[in-house]
Amino acid sequence: MNPLSIRMHDADNVAIVANDGGLPAGSVLQDGLKLLEKVPQGHKVSLVPIAKDTAVLRYNVPIGYALKDIPAGSWVHERLLHMPAARSLDNLPLATQQPAPLEPLAGYTFEGYRNADGSVGTRNILAITTTVQCVAGVVEFAVKRIKAEMLPRFPHVDDVVGLEHSYGCGVAIDAPDAIIPIRTLRNISRNPNFGGEVMVVSLGCEKLQPERLLPPGSIELKAGAELDVVCLQAPAHVGFMSMIDAIMASALPHLERLNARRRETVPASELVVGVQCGGSDAFSGVTANPAVGFATDLLVRAGATALFSETTEVRDAIDQMTARAVSPEVAQAMVREMAWYDAYLQRGSADRSANTTPGNKAGGLSNIVEKAMGSIVKSGTVPISGVLSPGEKASSKGLLYAATPASDFICGTLQLAAGMNLHVFTTGRGTPYGLAEVPVIKVATRTELATRWHDLMDVNAGRIADGEASIADVGWELFHLMLDVASGRKKTWAEHWELHNALVLFNPAPIT
Ligand code: CA
Repeated sequence: MNPLSIRMHDADNVAIVANDGGLPAGSVLQDGLKLLEKVPQGHKVSLVPIAKDTAVLRYNVPIGYALKDIPAGSWVHERLLHMPAARSLDNLPLATQQPAPLEPLAGYTFEGYRNADGSVGTRNILAITTTVQCVAGVVEFAVKRIKAEMLPRFPHVDDVVGLEHSYGCGVAIDAPDAIIPIRTLRNISRNPNFGGEVMVVSLGCEKLQPERLLPPGSIELKAGAELDVVCLQAPAHVGFMSMIDAIMASALPHLERLNARRRETVPASELVVGVQCGGSDAFSGVTANPAVGFATDLLVRAGATALFSETTEVRDAIDQMTARAVSPEVAQAMVREMAWYDAYLQRGSADRSANTTPGNKAGGLSNIVEKAMGSIVKSGTVPISGVLSPGEKASSKGLLYAATPASDFICGTLQLAAGMNLHVFTTGRGTPYGLAEVPVIKVATRTELATRWHDLMDVNAGRIADGEASIADVGWELFHLMLDVASGRKKTWAEHWELHNALVLFNPAPIT
């Protein structure tokens, strides 16, 4: 393969090396530039001499300032850069971009499960909501029995999932920020993939009592019905098997109702797709994330909902984001979420730079600014039409900013609460991430990863760097795959192997 470098914007003074294994000193790039030293794959090379203290531009954004003079053809690594300060949250452009009207995308459908509240599931799952971690072992035991002994009689039910978590007791439940984990759990139990069949297992003495988790009106109950709760400390339970029998008996009517449901043809506008990235490298922002961004635009043009998240990776692009908001109110809601998160990090004596990992840096990402610019391209180009605080459920369509930490499992958990029925996840370093609650489509940033992890990665966006496919090609492929996976016609690799990460709640409130 010939030496290949990729520049993201005409104004950039660096490009990244695309070749597997990097390039040795003396390699000559497409434009005739000779490398002065070895540059690893995904790492930056200076295209022109960069004087001390001048900006290193990638995506036409200063990702750092040179700590010394850097000759053309050098490896521009993190030790040569001084990171810019975070953009102030004052005087941001609010809804100043006037984007061209979106061309509607009509005629795309999938086969989904229509719910009473109007939402649509992509899977038909019995979820067992729990109020506290104490019951997790018992619920797991019951779930195993239900799957082995009952599920074979209900062939139209895809799975039984215990919604176990670390919250519920030993927490400052009246602290203002406790609203975040509580509404997260509440809204996850209302996820479209669970068909409105809510059943709860409670211990009895925990702080998060069932009526606090799911107060009257928070879920739709059949007329005259009460919240379906199995309480393990109830005097009626003599011995462990009594608890298991009660959970199994409680599951029966829910399984019967779920099993009676059938998929029906619904418009693509019923998709609620959460996008995020994890284990990023310098190709994330070149291949996989731009392809996801293209698909995000297709989703929004089709009338669907796309959720993008990961506050510490959006923070450095806040001025682009507020400019892209549909209204000053939406822009201000984004600023509110950023300010809340700045204060949250400050409480822990950290800032957004705590985001980057050793793997990110080994993959060529020098700092959070560079990572952020590659991360936000997942949101495509359409206007931002709404903002959700952590754990809130989406009530409108279009491109929404669902404020979450960038942590993969916490972001996924919060996007489940937002009502996502399909998850798209890009990775460059590689992660086997999966969720039991929704299908997770994984997109590899490089062909080498897609080849090595051939039975874990669903889409190879590395073909963009190889020059074999365009961003639009992979974006369309992903869009069609989303419709196939949502319809149950195709399973993702994470579903095939049943790779399920735990629900991990975002709890900024104190533990007692
Ligand atoms: Ca992430």
